[in-house]
Amino acid sequence: MNMRFNRELFSPQELKRMYGASAAAAENKAANDKKIRDVLDGTSDKMLLVVGPCSADREDSVIDYITRLRPLQDKVADKIVIVPRIYTNKPRTTGAGYKGMLHQPDPIADPDLFKGLVSIRKLHLRALEETGFSCADEMLYPENHLFLSDLLSYVAVGARSVEDQQHRLVASGLDIPVGMKNPTGGDLSVMMNSINAAQHGHSFIYRNWDVSSEGNPYAHAILRGYVDSHGTSHPNYHYEDLRRLADLYDEGSYKNPGVIVDCNHSNSGKKYLEQGRIAKEVLHSARSCDSVRRIFKGLMIESYIEDGSQKSGEHVYGCSITDPCLGWEKTERLILDLADLL
Ligand code: PEP
Ligand code: MN
Repeated sequence: MNMRFNRELFSPQELKRMYGASAAAAENKAANDKKIRDVLDGTSDKMLLVVGPCSADREDSVIDYITRLRPLQDKVADKIVIVPRIYTNKPRTTGAGYKGMLHQPDPIADPDLFKGLVSIRKLHLRALEETGFSCADEMLYPENHLFLSDLLSYVAVGARSVEDQQHRLVASGLDIPVGMKNPTGGDLSVMMNSINAAQHGHSFIYRNWDVSSEGNPYAHAILRGYVDSHGTSHPNYHYEDLRRLADLYDEGSYKNPGVIVDCNHSNSGKKYLEQGRIAKEVLHSARSCDSVRRIFKGLMIESYIEDGSQKSGEHVYGCSITDPCLGWEKTERLILDLADLL
Protein backbone atom coordinates (compact mmCIF):
# COMPACT_ATOMS: atom_id res chain seq x y z
CA MET A 1 0.00 0.00 0.00
CA ASN A 2 1.18 3.45 -0.81
CA MET A 3 0.04 4.89 2.53
CA ARG A 4 1.85 5.75 5.76
CA PHE A 5 0.09 4.85 9.00
CA ASN A 6 1.13 7.93 10.99
CA ARG A 7 -0.62 7.60 14.31
CA GLU A 8 -3.36 5.53 15.86
CA LEU A 9 -6.31 7.67 16.97
CA PHE A 10 -8.68 7.48 19.93
CA SER A 11 -11.66 5.19 19.62
CA PRO A 12 -15.06 6.95 19.71
CA GLN A 13 -15.62 5.47 23.19
CA GLU A 14 -12.32 6.91 24.47
CA LEU A 15 -12.96 10.34 23.02
CA LYS A 16 -16.51 10.39 24.41
CA ARG A 17 -15.15 9.48 27.85
CA MET A 18 -12.56 12.26 27.73
CA TYR A 19 -15.00 14.89 26.50
CA GLY A 20 -18.34 13.69 27.78
CA ALA A 21 -21.64 15.52 27.63
CA SER A 22 -23.32 16.55 30.90
CA ALA A 23 -26.75 15.23 31.85
CA ALA A 24 -28.25 18.65 31.04
CA ALA A 25 -26.63 18.60 27.59
CA ALA A 26 -27.96 15.11 26.90
CA GLU A 27 -31.44 16.29 27.92
CA ASN A 28 -31.19 19.29 25.60
CA LYS A 29 -30.15 17.08 22.71
CA ALA A 30 -33.06 14.72 23.33
CA ALA A 31 -35.48 17.67 23.38
CA ASN A 32 -33.96 19.12 20.18
CA ASP A 33 -34.14 15.71 18.47
CA LYS A 34 -37.83 15.49 19.29
CA LYS A 35 -38.56 19.00 17.97
CA ILE A 36 -36.84 18.16 14.68
CA ARG A 37 -38.57 14.79 14.34
CA ASP A 38 -41.91 16.44 15.06
CA VAL A 39 -41.44 18.76 12.09
CA LEU A 40 -40.41 15.96 9.77
CA ASP A 41 -43.26 13.62 10.69
CA GLY A 42 -45.88 16.37 10.64
CA THR A 43 -46.59 16.40 14.39
CA SER A 44 -45.50 20.05 14.30
CA ASP A 45 -46.02 22.53 11.45
CA LYS A 46 -42.96 24.60 12.35
CA MET A 47 -40.17 25.08 9.84
CA LEU A 48 -36.65 23.71 10.27
CA LEU A 49 -33.86 26.16 9.60
CA VAL A 50 -30.41 24.63 9.20
CA VAL A 51 -28.27 27.74 9.34
CA GLY A 52 -24.63 28.57 9.87
CA PRO A 53 -21.28 28.83 8.19
CA CYS A 54 -20.30 26.71 5.20
CA SER A 55 -17.36 25.48 7.28
CA ALA A 56 -16.71 25.69 11.02
CA ASP A 57 -13.20 27.03 10.64
CA ARG A 58 -12.47 28.43 14.13
CA GLU A 59 -13.89 27.59 17.53
CA ASP A 60 -14.11 31.20 18.78
CA SER A 61 -16.06 32.68 15.87
CA VAL A 62 -18.31 29.62 15.49
CA ILE A 63 -19.25 29.70 19.19
CA ASP A 64 -19.76 33.48 18.92
CA TYR A 65 -22.09 32.91 15.93
CA ILE A 66 -24.10 30.12 17.58
CA THR A 67 -24.40 32.11 20.81
CA ARG A 68 -26.07 34.87 18.74
CA LEU A 69 -28.58 32.34 17.37
CA ARG A 70 -29.80 31.42 20.89
CA PRO A 71 -31.90 34.52 21.71
CA LEU A 72 -33.09 34.62 18.10
CA GLN A 73 -34.29 31.00 18.38
CA ASP A 74 -36.18 31.90 21.53
CA LYS A 75 -37.86 34.82 19.71
CA VAL A 76 -39.08 32.70 16.78
CA ALA A 77 -39.67 29.45 18.72
CA ASP A 78 -43.37 29.32 17.86
CA LYS A 79 -42.57 29.18 14.10
CA ILE A 80 -39.02 27.97 13.49
CA VAL A 81 -36.76 25.21 14.83
CA ILE A 82 -33.17 26.35 14.33
CA VAL A 83 -30.48 23.72 13.81
CA PRO A 84 -27.10 25.45 13.62
CA ARG A 85 -24.62 24.20 11.05
CA ILE A 86 -21.27 23.18 12.53
CA TYR A 87 -19.72 21.61 9.44
CA THR A 88 -16.39 20.19 10.51
CA ASN A 89 -15.42 18.25 7.40
CA LYS A 90 -15.66 19.61 3.88
CA PRO A 91 -15.83 17.72 0.59
CA ARG A 92 -13.69 19.37 -2.07
CA THR A 93 -14.64 19.40 -5.73
CA THR A 94 -11.08 18.92 -7.01
CA GLY A 95 -9.60 17.41 -3.84
CA ALA A 96 -7.57 20.56 -3.18
CA GLY A 97 -8.23 23.19 -0.49
CA TYR A 98 -9.40 23.37 3.13
CA LYS A 99 -10.98 20.04 4.16
CA GLY A 100 -12.41 21.34 7.40
CA MET A 101 -11.52 21.43 11.10
CA LEU A 102 -11.16 17.65 11.21
CA HIS A 103 -8.18 17.90 8.88
CA GLN A 104 -6.95 21.37 9.83
CA PRO A 105 -7.89 22.42 13.37
CA ASP A 106 -5.87 25.53 12.58
CA PRO A 107 -6.92 26.54 9.07
CA ILE A 108 -3.59 28.16 8.30
CA ALA A 109 -1.39 25.36 9.67
CA ASP A 110 -0.64 21.92 8.22
CA PRO A 111 -3.23 19.13 8.58
CA ASP A 112 -3.28 17.43 11.99
CA LEU A 113 -5.98 14.76 12.16
CA PHE A 114 -5.29 13.76 15.77
CA LYS A 115 -5.84 17.32 16.98
CA GLY A 116 -8.62 17.77 14.45
CA LEU A 117 -10.65 14.89 15.84
CA VAL A 118 -10.37 16.29 19.37
CA SER A 119 -11.18 19.81 18.10
CA ILE A 120 -14.41 18.85 16.32
CA ARG A 121 -15.69 16.98 19.39
CA LYS A 122 -14.80 19.89 21.66
CA LEU A 123 -16.51 22.37 19.33
CA HIS A 124 -19.78 20.43 19.07
CA LEU A 125 -19.68 19.76 22.82
CA ARG A 126 -19.09 23.43 23.66
CA ALA A 127 -21.95 24.50 21.41
CA LEU A 128 -24.32 22.08 23.15
CA GLU A 129 -23.17 22.83 26.70
CA GLU A 130 -23.10 26.62 26.27
CA THR A 131 -26.07 27.27 24.00
CA GLY A 132 -28.29 24.18 24.28
CA PHE A 133 -28.08 23.64 20.52
CA SER A 134 -27.23 20.16 19.28
CA CYS A 135 -26.16 20.95 15.77
CA ALA A 136 -25.95 19.72 12.18
CA ASP A 137 -22.85 18.45 10.44
CA GLU A 138 -22.19 16.82 7.09
CA MET A 139 -21.63 13.07 7.34
CA LEU A 140 -18.73 13.11 4.92
CA TYR A 141 -16.95 10.14 6.53
CA PRO A 142 -19.61 7.72 7.81
CA GLU A 143 -17.11 5.83 9.99
CA ASN A 144 -16.53 9.01 11.98
CA HIS A 145 -20.15 9.53 12.98
CA LEU A 146 -19.69 7.70 16.29
CA PHE A 147 -17.23 10.35 17.49
CA LEU A 148 -20.12 12.85 17.53
CA SER A 149 -23.25 10.69 17.72
CA ASP A 150 -24.26 11.91 21.20
CA LEU A 151 -23.93 15.58 20.18
CA LEU A 152 -25.50 15.90 16.71
CA SER A 153 -29.19 16.35 16.01
CA TYR A 154 -29.01 16.33 12.21
CA VAL A 155 -26.68 15.22 9.44
CA ALA A 156 -26.65 15.83 5.73
CA VAL A 157 -25.22 13.48 3.14
CA GLY A 158 -23.58 15.82 0.66
CA ALA A 159 -24.10 16.13 -3.07
CA ARG A 160 -20.82 14.33 -3.75
CA SER A 161 -21.60 11.40 -1.41
CA VAL A 162 -25.28 10.73 -1.92
CA GLU A 163 -24.78 7.89 -4.42
CA ASP A 164 -22.34 6.08 -2.14
CA GLN A 165 -23.52 2.81 -0.62
CA GLN A 166 -21.76 3.12 2.75
CA HIS A 167 -23.30 6.57 3.33
CA ARG A 168 -26.74 5.15 2.65
CA LEU A 169 -26.21 2.10 4.88
CA VAL A 170 -24.90 4.12 7.80
CA ALA A 171 -27.75 6.65 7.36
CA SER A 172 -30.16 3.72 7.72
CA GLY A 173 -28.76 3.07 11.19
CA LEU A 174 -28.85 6.59 12.63
CA ASP A 175 -31.47 7.74 15.13
CA ILE A 176 -31.36 11.34 13.92
CA PRO A 177 -32.73 12.77 10.65
CA VAL A 178 -30.50 12.54 7.59
CA GLY A 179 -30.92 14.96 4.71
CA MET A 180 -29.97 13.48 1.34
CA LYS A 181 -28.82 16.14 -1.07
CA ASN A 182 -29.45 15.93 -4.77
CA PRO A 183 -26.17 15.07 -6.52
CA THR A 184 -24.16 17.87 -8.17
CA GLY A 185 -25.43 16.72 -11.61
CA GLY A 186 -29.04 17.16 -10.47
CA ASP A 187 -30.45 13.64 -11.06
CA LEU A 188 -33.26 13.46 -8.51
CA SER A 189 -33.56 9.67 -8.85
CA VAL A 190 -30.14 9.36 -7.15
CA MET A 191 -31.45 11.34 -4.17
CA MET A 192 -34.75 9.42 -4.05
CA ASN A 193 -32.88 6.08 -4.20
CA SER A 194 -30.69 7.26 -1.36
CA ILE A 195 -33.73 8.18 0.77
CA ASN A 196 -35.27 4.81 -0.02
CA ALA A 197 -32.08 2.93 0.87
CA ALA A 198 -31.70 4.86 4.14
CA GLN A 199 -35.31 4.23 5.15
CA HIS A 200 -34.82 0.45 5.02
CA GLY A 201 -32.81 -1.85 7.28
CA HIS A 202 -29.52 -3.39 6.13
CA SER A 203 -26.68 -5.63 7.27
CA PHE A 204 -23.20 -4.29 6.65
CA ILE A 205 -19.71 -3.81 8.02
CA TYR A 206 -19.15 -0.73 10.20
CA ARG A 207 -15.97 0.01 12.12
CA ASN A 208 -14.88 -3.63 11.90
CA TRP A 209 -18.22 -4.95 13.16
CA ASP A 210 -20.96 -6.95 11.49
CA VAL A 211 -23.94 -4.66 12.14
CA SER A 212 -27.59 -4.44 11.21
CA SER A 213 -29.80 -1.37 10.99
CA GLU A 214 -33.51 -0.79 11.35
CA GLY A 215 -33.92 1.87 8.65
CA ASN A 216 -34.25 5.60 9.24
CA PRO A 217 -37.80 6.91 8.72
CA TYR A 218 -36.50 10.48 8.91
CA ALA A 219 -34.29 10.34 5.80
CA HIS A 220 -35.50 13.16 3.52
CA ALA A 221 -34.53 15.30 0.51
CA ILE A 222 -32.40 18.42 0.31
CA LEU A 223 -32.54 20.36 -2.97
CA ARG A 224 -29.30 22.29 -3.53
CA GLY A 225 -29.43 23.13 -7.26
CA TYR A 226 -27.15 21.45 -9.80
CA VAL A 227 -24.41 21.99 -12.35
CA ASP A 228 -24.90 20.99 -16.01
CA SER A 229 -22.37 19.37 -18.35
CA HIS A 230 -21.09 22.84 -19.27
CA GLY A 231 -20.39 23.72 -15.65
CA THR A 232 -23.32 26.15 -15.38
CA SER A 233 -25.32 26.25 -12.11
CA HIS A 234 -29.09 25.80 -12.24
CA PRO A 235 -31.59 26.17 -9.42
CA ASN A 236 -34.06 23.50 -8.36
CA TYR A 237 -36.01 25.43 -5.70
CA HIS A 238 -38.76 26.83 -7.93
CA TYR A 239 -42.41 25.89 -7.61
CA GLU A 240 -42.20 23.41 -10.53
CA ASP A 241 -39.20 21.66 -8.95
CA LEU A 242 -41.05 21.27 -5.65
CA ARG A 243 -44.15 19.95 -7.44
CA ARG A 244 -42.00 17.43 -9.27
CA LEU A 245 -40.43 16.27 -6.02
CA ALA A 246 -43.89 15.87 -4.47
CA ASP A 247 -44.82 13.69 -7.47
CA LEU A 248 -41.66 11.60 -7.05
CA TYR A 249 -42.58 11.02 -3.42
CA ASP A 250 -46.10 10.01 -4.48
CA GLU A 251 -44.74 7.50 -7.03
CA GLY A 252 -42.83 5.56 -4.36
CA SER A 253 -43.47 4.48 -0.85
CA TYR A 254 -41.63 6.69 1.59
CA LYS A 255 -42.02 7.47 5.24
CA ASN A 256 -42.34 11.16 6.15
CA PRO A 257 -41.91 12.66 2.65
CA GLY A 258 -40.04 15.90 3.20
CA VAL A 259 -37.73 18.44 1.64
CA ILE A 260 -35.36 21.07 2.91
CA VAL A 261 -34.35 23.68 0.36
CA ASP A 262 -30.70 24.69 0.46
CA CYS A 263 -30.76 28.36 -0.53
CA ASN A 264 -27.04 28.62 -1.36
CA HIS A 265 -24.75 26.37 -3.45
CA SER A 266 -26.08 25.86 -6.98
CA ASN A 267 -29.48 27.25 -6.01
CA SER A 268 -28.00 30.71 -5.55
CA GLY A 269 -25.06 30.09 -7.89
CA LYS A 270 -23.17 31.00 -4.67
CA LYS A 271 -24.61 34.54 -4.91
CA TYR A 272 -25.14 34.40 -1.16
CA LEU A 273 -27.21 37.58 -0.98
CA GLU A 274 -29.90 35.83 -3.06
CA GLN A 275 -30.60 33.43 -0.20
CA GLY A 276 -33.26 35.65 1.37
CA ARG A 277 -35.17 36.02 -1.88
CA ILE A 278 -34.93 32.27 -2.53
CA ALA A 279 -36.15 31.45 1.00
CA LYS A 280 -39.16 33.72 0.60
CA GLU A 281 -40.01 32.30 -2.82
CA VAL A 282 -39.99 28.79 -1.34
CA LEU A 283 -42.37 29.83 1.45
CA HIS A 284 -44.64 31.35 -1.20
CA SER A 285 -44.57 28.08 -3.22
CA ALA A 286 -45.45 26.09 -0.09
CA ARG A 287 -48.39 28.40 0.55
CA SER A 288 -49.58 28.10 -3.06
CA CYS A 289 -50.09 24.37 -3.27
CA ASP A 290 -51.11 21.58 -0.90
CA SER A 291 -48.74 18.97 -2.28
CA VAL A 292 -45.77 21.33 -1.89
CA ARG A 293 -46.91 22.40 1.56
CA ARG A 294 -47.09 18.75 2.60
CA ILE A 295 -43.45 18.01 1.74
CA PHE A 296 -41.91 21.39 2.64
CA LYS A 297 -40.10 21.01 5.96
CA GLY A 298 -37.40 23.63 6.03
CA LEU A 299 -34.59 25.71 4.64
CA MET A 300 -30.82 25.63 4.73
CA ILE A 301 -28.95 28.93 4.73
CA GLU A 302 -25.20 29.55 4.74
CA SER A 303 -24.58 32.35 7.19
CA TYR A 304 -21.73 33.60 9.36
CA ILE A 305 -20.73 36.79 11.17
CA GLU A 306 -19.43 38.66 8.12
CA ASP A 307 -20.86 38.79 4.62
CA GLY A 308 -19.19 36.87 1.79
CA SER A 309 -15.97 34.88 1.90
CA GLN A 310 -12.24 35.43 2.13
CA LYS A 311 -9.08 33.70 1.04
CA SER A 312 -7.52 31.61 3.81
CA GLY A 313 -4.62 34.08 4.30
CA GLU A 314 -6.85 37.09 5.00
CA HIS A 315 -7.75 36.36 8.65
CA VAL A 316 -11.04 38.26 8.83
CA TYR A 317 -12.85 37.11 12.01
CA GLY A 318 -16.16 35.37 11.25
CA CYS A 319 -15.81 35.48 7.45
CA SER A 320 -16.11 32.20 5.54
CA ILE A 321 -13.04 30.58 4.02
CA THR A 322 -15.20 28.26 1.90
CA ASP A 323 -18.60 29.21 0.36
CA PRO A 324 -19.75 32.83 0.74
CA CYS A 325 -22.20 33.35 3.60
CA LEU A 326 -24.83 35.89 4.60
CA GLY A 327 -23.52 38.11 7.41
CA TRP A 328 -25.05 38.23 10.90
CA GLU A 329 -27.22 41.39 10.65
CA LYS A 330 -28.80 40.24 7.37
CA THR A 331 -29.30 36.75 8.78
CA GLU A 332 -31.05 38.04 11.88
CA ARG A 333 -33.35 40.26 9.80
CA LEU A 334 -34.10 37.38 7.43
CA ILE A 335 -34.98 34.92 10.20
CA LEU A 336 -37.36 37.45 11.78
CA ASP A 337 -38.91 38.12 8.33
CA LEU A 338 -39.34 34.39 7.69
CA ALA A 339 -41.03 33.95 11.08
CA ASP A 340 -43.45 36.77 10.15
CA LEU A 341 -44.25 35.06 6.85
CA LEU A 342 -44.99 31.67 8.43
C1 PEP B 1 -22.31 22.41 2.09
O1 PEP B 1 -23.43 22.27 2.63
O2 PEP B 1 -21.49 23.28 2.44
C2 PEP B 1 -21.96 21.53 0.95
C3 PEP B 1 -20.72 21.21 0.68
O3 PEP B 1 -23.04 21.13 0.26
P1 PEP B 1 -23.16 20.27 -1.09
O4 PEP B 1 -22.88 18.86 -0.70
O5 PEP B 1 -24.58 20.51 -1.51
O6 PEP B 1 -22.18 20.84 -2.09
MN1 MN C 1 -21.13 25.33 1.44
